[in-house]
Formats: sequence, structure tokens, C-alpha cells
Amino acid sequence: MATPYILEPDLLLCDGALLEQASLGVGADGRFCAPTKLPKATPKVRLTGRVLLPGLVNAHSHAFQRLIRGRTEFLTPGRPADDFWTWRERMYHAANALGPEDVYVASRQAFLEMALCGITTVGEFHYLHHGPNGEPYHDRNELALQVIRAARDVGLRVALLRVGYARTGYEAPDNPLQRRFYDGDVDGFLAAVEGLRGVTKGDPAISVGAAPHSVRAVPRGWLERVAQVPSGVVHMHVAEQAAEVAACQAEHGRRPFELLHEVGLLSERFTAVHGVELSQREVALLGMARARVCVCPSTERNLGDGVVEADLLQEAGVSLCLGTDSQAEIDLFSEARLLEGHLRLLRKRRAVLDKGDRGPNGLSAQLLNAATLHGAESLAVEAGALRPGLFADAVALDLAHPSMAGLSPKAGVAQLLFGAAAAAVREVWVGGHKIVSEGAHPLAAQSGQEFSKLARRVFA
Ligand SMILES: [Zn+2]
Repeated sequence: MATPYILEPDLLLCDGALLEQASLGVGADGRFCAPTKLPKATPKVRLTGRVLLPGLVNAHSHAFQRLIRGRTEFLTPGRPADDFWTWRERMYHAANALGPEDVYVASRQAFLEMALCGITTVGEFHYLHHGPNGEPYHDRNELALQVIRAARDVGLRVALLRVGYARTGYEAPDNPLQRRFYDGDVDGFLAAVEGLRGVTKGDPAISVGAAPHSVRAVPRGWLERVAQVPSGVVHMHVAEQAAEVAACQAEHGRRPFELLHEVGLLSERFTAVHGVELSQREVALLGMARARVCVCPSTERNLGDGVVEADLLQEAGVSLCLGTDSQAEIDLFSEARLLEGHLRLLRKRRAVLDKGDRGPNGLSAQLLNAATLHGAESLAVEAGALRPGLFADAVALDLAHPSMAGLSPKAGVAQLLFGAAAAAVREVWVGGHKIVSEGAHPLAAQSGQEFSKLARRVFA
């Protein structure tokens, strides 16, 4: 239990608008409350020159991939059409070089970078489970627990999306580089999810979800079984690449979302990551099921995946959230801008996602929701807004930062979303605990040094 306090920023984001002279209480339970609910003597924390936003939610991350940033930006000799699948082989090289402590060090650096740019919750899509030859660790959850430890040492809230992985692909030869990912069977996978829930239940900042990797990596029987699990969120890579859709049609005679609909997986609890390759019928199926899509624009751009037709998804009623995925960049404000920006290039017009009924801040409030509330809903985490009852996860930006100059409260949400540099983030709170102060994190120097040492070894 912590001592309650009251935050008093110059500006506070509430329901898509910036309020002046508003304040917000933080209770002993680490959740927001109305200041009037706290005793009169409750200390006030004056945030002069700051605008307070909900903490950002990164709904899709593979933390260790931070190691390969900037190391795959060239053509492989003999492969003139470098694509996703050659990038993947290099990513596997890094994945197979990591022991448990290395997984911790690599993950901590990614999470640290996230904290410094205002991310307070990460959905970690975790598929590294076993030793390099596929032999399980003494504790089968060893590597997942290392990732969780890294997130909690940095101070982030973490939803560990424990991945189930059965095979290389339909009629594909076994790839030895994937042996660290495999579960023997679907019951083993679901038992690992439950096991992780059991050992982490004492910390309210940790939750666990199930993540069948993709329609490529698990057979239909696994999907049917996961659909019967009565509670918890389900995340899954779906329709990132045309080759994956073609393989699904060859195996199942239907497209990925048609298959997921048929097995009963599509619901509010289900988040599809990517959704680049979609038919009209699939968009409609997602909308009818109120399923969610997590878009990862900087990764989809980096890998040449394509553009998610988020306008069609939004029209169908699909809730959109955002992820940093491969960590090509870690900046959720930028991801939110790219969600809209890529559509402008595709449709050759402006303000594509604007519903047109909420004035000059409407589009920006929607994009901010994708970076906060919708991500929290996708992970079933009680956060994502500055609202009484939710966890006190917040980020304060410096109104004196050069990127914020000229901000006026009236048009401020749009100026913030389209203008703020991640470097304007000054303070970050998770569950009421301050994890970033004056733009600095206490673990930054040590984490950076240990990460650099690891990167030199992996790529020696
Ligand atoms: Zn991913």
C-alpha cells in the first residue's frame, strides 16, 4: 500500500479534451480516484508546465528483437528480393544465441526504452520457451519469467501473452531454428499459460494471456481447443503476409479469418495482430464478432508487409490498438501517427480515419485511444484512461519542450498527437509509482551497458 496523493498538472486529458486546473487523486491501492474521496491533508503533487495523459499501452511486443534493430537493413548476397522470410532467419539467429540472463538483459533494454517514451503497459508476445536444442528448462516457464522480471524491474505493467507453437508450417520441413518455440501439444501449451498465471497472481501488474502463434504455426485442432477456454485474452498473428494466406487456403480451403470464425475464436477477447491481407468478408467477420486488431505500423513498414486497411476495419466496428512489435522503433505516438499516415499514402487523401463528427481534435482523440484505452481493453488490463477506478498509469509531457511550443488547450489534443516528440516525456507512473523522473530512469546506464555487451557477443 502506498501513500495517496493528488496530481495537479497544468493540463489533463479527459474524454478527448485537455482540461485546465483539473486534478486527479491516486489512492493507496494504486488506482485513480476523485480528489474529493481522499482526506483533506492528502499531499498535492504540483506538475508545473506539464500535460498529463494516460500511460501508453503497447499491445504487441517481442522485446528481444530490440537486439536486431539496424542489423537487417541490407540485401543478402544471392537473395536480391530480400523479404520478411530472410529477415526472419536473422531474427532466429539472435533468438538462438540467448540464455535466460541474456533474455532478461535484452528485454530490459527494450522495456526501458518503452518507459522513457511513456509506455506503461506492454503486451509481450513471448515465444522463446526452451533451450537452444528444444530441451525444456528445469522450470518450463524460465524464459517467460525472465521477461516478466525485466518488465517489473523497469516498472512496467506486463501482459505476458504466452505463445503456443506447434510446427514450422503446413507440410513444411522442420526448421531447427524454431525448436526453442515448440510445445508438444495444445494441452501442454494451455497448461503453461495456467502455470504462469498461478506463479504471477500475487502481482496486480502482471497478467497472462494465450497466444497461438499464427495459422501457420498451429493446426486447426489447437485453435478449436483454445476457442473453448472460457476466460482470458487471446492474441494471434494473423494475415501479415500473402504467403501465409495462401498456405492457409491450401491447408484449410479458406482464408485465415474464415477459419478463425469457423472454429469460434473471433470475439471481443480476440486480438489479431497485423491483419494486412484481408478480404471484405474477413473484415465483416471481424466487425460482427467485435474482435480487435493490433496494428504495428513501423514494423509493417520496416518489413515491407503492407498497409493495414484500418479505415475499413474501423467502419466495420473493429477496435484498433497499436504495437511496437519488432522494436524497429519504440515510440507509440509515432505508431499512432503512422496508423493514419500510411492510410493517407494509400488513399491519397487526408484525415482518413476521422469520423468527421468531433471537430479538430476528433481524429487525434481516436488515435490516442488506439495508443491507450483500446490497447488496455485488448489486454484486459484496467488502465488506459485518467479515470477513477483504473490503475494510476500516467505520463506527463513537458509543455516547454520545443515540439510542444504553441500548444493551446483548445486544439491541444491534435497538437499533442501530431506534434509531441517522445523526448517531451518527463514523468511516468505505473500503479501510482513513479518510474521515470525528469526524463530519466535509474536503470538506464546499467541496462545500456549490459545490453551493448550482449549485442557485441551475439553479433561477434
Ligand atoms: Zn509480432
